Amino acid sequence: VSRELHPHDTQVPLGNTQIGGERFAVIAGPCSVESREQLLAVAEMVKAKGAIGLRGGAFKPRTSPYAFQGLGLEGLKLLKEANDQLGLPTVSEVISPEDVPMMAQYVDMLQIGARNMYNYRLLEAVGQSGKPVMLKRGLSATIEEFLLAAEYIVAQGNPQVVLCERGIRTFETATRNTLDLNAVALLKQKTHLPVVVDPSHGTGIRELVIPLSRAAAAVGADGIIVEAHLNPKEALSDGHQALTEDLFEQLMRELAPFVAAA
Ligand code: PEP
Ligand code: MN
Repeated sequence: VSRELHPHDTQVPLGNTQIGGERFAVIAGPCSVESREQLLAVAEMVKAKGAIGLRGGAFKPRTSPYAFQGLGLEGLKLLKEANDQLGLPTVSEVISPEDVPMMAQYVDMLQIGARNMYNYRLLEAVGQSGKPVMLKRGLSATIEEFLLAAEYIVAQGNPQVVLCERGIRTFETATRNTLDLNAVALLKQKTHLPVVVDPSHGTGIRELVIPLSRAAAAVGADGIIVEAHLNPKEALSDGHQALTEDLFEQLMRELAPFVAAA
């Protein structure tokens, strides 16, 4: 994935659009798919305000085994329904190599979560799927390890990889993670792959998502993936970091100069 071997920026397809290139991509949606009503309403909202992709977890690797684990296959079917209705391509996390062929039938981009960045059998499985992949940086992964994880996917013959900086664990506890914008600038130099930022998990605080999204655009990221919910108080996961409709609208207004540069 080195820029020395391939000097030009890669574009990675997401449905019939792509990540990478002139336009700053905004992918948005709930942390978890919770119900048809919840998903379709938030998908419609983010699409109307300019998102090019819909995120939503169906298999949720939660810190506590007693927390909501996701709707599974039912959630994938809802993501497909949302895409069929709205023409909004989808990104969702796969947590097990056996699930890859099944998930590939329902979603447009397979997400590898931070906790699985070192799961090399899973990386190989998505590499063999031929599907575009969003690879999230591990909670304590070095940039070298992050790039080598991408190599695991590409080495299987699948060059369609988007890197996602989602914050790393540091001594700081005031925010959920420390969003490493150094990494974004450095990755843009070292690799031709598109780099996106997840300011929702990167900060864990709703009020910080817009400023860090602006920072991501300023530092040269190819886009962001953000959590949004029409009723965050009722969310089954990560409600405290979800953007409300008003905040999502404000986000898109502030990013307009980047999003419009197509
Ligand atoms: C997510 O995007 O839903 C998620 C669980 O993020 P991460 O793997 O970065 O913690
Ligand atoms: Mn989340």
